[in-house]
Amino acid sequence: MCIFCDIIEGKVPSTKRYEDDKFIIIDDISHRAKKHYLIIPKAHYSTFAEQTEEQAIDLGLMLNRFSRFDKILGLEEGYRMMINQGENAGQSVEHVHVHILGGEKLPVAP
Ligand code: AMP
Ligand code: ZN
Repeated sequence: MCIFCDIIEGKVPSTKRYEDDKFIIIDDISHRAKKHYLIIPKAHYSTFAEQTEEQAIDLGLMLNRFSRFDKILGLEEGYRMMINQGENAGQSVEHVHVHILGGEKLPVAP
Protein backbone atom coordinates (compact mmCIF):
# COMPACT_ATOMS: atom_id res chain seq x y z
CA MET A 1 0.00 0.00 0.00
CA CYS A 2 2.92 2.36 0.83
CA ILE A 3 6.58 2.32 1.87
CA PHE A 4 5.69 2.07 5.58
CA CYS A 5 3.34 -0.86 4.92
CA ASP A 6 6.23 -2.54 3.06
CA ILE A 7 8.51 -1.92 6.06
CA ILE A 8 5.87 -3.32 8.44
CA GLU A 9 5.53 -6.41 6.25
CA GLY A 10 9.32 -6.83 6.13
CA LYS A 11 9.49 -6.28 2.35
CA VAL A 12 11.74 -3.24 2.86
CA PRO A 13 14.53 -3.32 5.47
CA SER A 14 14.54 -0.93 8.43
CA THR A 15 16.27 -0.44 11.75
CA LYS A 16 13.49 -1.60 14.01
CA ARG A 17 13.72 -0.37 17.60
CA TYR A 18 10.36 -1.63 18.84
CA GLU A 19 7.47 -3.74 17.64
CA ASP A 20 4.17 -4.87 19.08
CA ASP A 21 0.90 -5.98 17.49
CA LYS A 22 -0.08 -2.41 16.56
CA PHE A 23 3.11 -0.35 16.13
CA ILE A 24 6.71 -0.31 15.03
CA ILE A 25 9.40 2.23 15.84
CA ILE A 26 12.20 2.62 13.31
CA ASP A 27 15.05 5.00 12.59
CA ASP A 28 14.20 7.66 10.01
CA ILE A 29 16.33 6.98 6.94
CA SER A 30 17.37 10.63 6.54
CA HIS A 31 17.59 11.81 10.12
CA ARG A 32 17.05 15.50 10.85
CA ALA A 33 18.41 15.33 14.39
CA LYS A 34 21.07 13.21 16.11
CA LYS A 35 18.24 10.81 17.04
CA HIS A 36 15.28 10.61 14.69
CA TYR A 37 12.74 7.84 15.06
CA LEU A 38 9.35 7.19 13.51
CA ILE A 39 6.43 5.68 15.42
CA ILE A 40 4.33 3.96 12.78
CA PRO A 41 0.94 2.33 13.35
CA LYS A 42 0.60 -1.01 11.58
CA ALA A 43 -2.83 0.05 10.36
CA HIS A 44 -2.62 2.08 7.16
CA TYR A 45 -4.44 5.42 7.34
CA SER A 46 -3.15 8.50 5.54
CA THR A 47 -4.49 11.30 7.72
CA PHE A 48 -6.24 11.87 11.04
CA ALA A 49 -9.46 12.37 9.10
CA GLU A 50 -9.26 8.66 8.25
CA GLN A 51 -8.30 7.54 11.73
CA THR A 52 -10.93 5.60 13.67
CA GLU A 53 -11.57 6.29 17.36
CA GLU A 54 -10.02 2.94 18.21
CA GLN A 55 -6.89 3.84 16.25
CA ALA A 56 -6.80 7.21 18.05
CA ILE A 57 -6.88 5.46 21.42
CA ASP A 58 -4.14 3.07 20.31
CA LEU A 59 -1.92 5.94 19.17
CA GLY A 60 -2.54 7.85 22.42
CA LEU A 61 -1.53 4.79 24.42
CA MET A 62 1.56 4.31 22.28
CA LEU A 63 2.68 7.90 22.86
CA ASN A 64 2.13 7.43 26.58
CA ARG A 65 4.19 4.21 26.60
CA PHE A 66 6.89 5.91 24.58
CA SER A 67 7.70 8.06 27.62
CA ARG A 68 9.29 4.94 29.13
CA PHE A 69 11.65 4.40 26.17
CA ASP A 70 13.69 7.58 26.58
CA LYS A 71 16.75 5.96 28.16
CA ILE A 72 17.13 3.09 25.69
CA LEU A 73 16.71 5.48 22.75
CA GLY A 74 19.12 8.17 23.98
CA LEU A 75 16.38 10.73 24.60
CA GLU A 76 16.83 11.32 28.36
CA GLU A 77 17.34 15.05 27.83
CA GLY A 78 14.05 15.46 25.99
CA TYR A 79 12.65 15.09 22.53
CA ARG A 80 10.11 16.55 20.12
CA MET A 81 7.10 14.67 18.76
CA MET A 82 6.00 15.91 15.35
CA ILE A 83 3.31 14.90 12.88
CA ASN A 84 3.07 16.26 9.35
CA GLN A 85 -0.39 16.30 7.83
CA GLY A 86 -0.95 17.14 4.19
CA GLU A 87 0.89 19.10 1.56
CA ASN A 88 1.47 22.35 3.46
CA ALA A 89 3.18 20.44 6.27
CA GLY A 90 5.30 18.49 3.80
CA GLN A 91 3.85 15.06 4.53
CA SER A 92 5.70 12.79 2.14
CA VAL A 93 4.45 9.36 3.25
CA GLU A 94 0.68 9.04 3.32
CA HIS A 95 0.59 6.69 6.29
CA VAL A 96 0.23 8.55 9.59
CA HIS A 97 3.42 8.48 11.65
CA VAL A 98 4.96 10.39 14.52
CA HIS A 99 8.48 11.78 14.23
CA ILE A 100 10.59 11.69 17.38
CA LEU A 101 13.53 14.09 17.28
CA GLY A 102 16.17 14.40 19.97
CA GLY A 103 19.63 13.43 21.12
CA GLU A 104 20.71 17.08 20.95
CA LYS A 105 19.38 20.61 21.54
CA LEU A 106 16.82 21.21 18.80
CA PRO A 107 16.23 24.50 16.98
CA VAL A 108 12.96 26.24 17.85
CA ALA A 109 10.17 24.77 15.71
CA PRO A 110 8.13 27.09 13.44
P1 AMP B 1 6.85 12.95 6.43
O1 AMP B 1 7.60 13.83 5.50
O2 AMP B 1 6.39 13.59 7.69
O3 AMP B 1 5.73 12.21 5.71
O4 AMP B 1 7.88 11.86 6.92
C1 AMP B 1 8.26 10.76 6.18
C2 AMP B 1 9.59 10.33 6.71
O5 AMP B 1 9.82 9.00 6.31
C3 AMP B 1 10.76 11.18 6.19
O6 AMP B 1 11.43 11.79 7.29
C4 AMP B 1 11.66 10.14 5.49
O7 AMP B 1 13.03 10.37 5.69
C5 AMP B 1 11.20 8.85 6.12
N1 AMP B 1 11.38 7.67 5.30
C6 AMP B 1 11.04 7.50 4.00
N2 AMP B 1 11.36 6.27 3.57
C7 AMP B 1 11.92 5.63 4.63
C8 AMP B 1 12.47 4.33 4.83
N3 AMP B 1 12.52 3.43 3.85
N4 AMP B 1 12.96 4.02 6.07
C9 AMP B 1 12.93 4.94 7.06
N5 AMP B 1 12.41 6.17 6.93
C10 AMP B 1 11.93 6.52 5.75
ZN1 ZN C 1 0.84 2.24 4.63
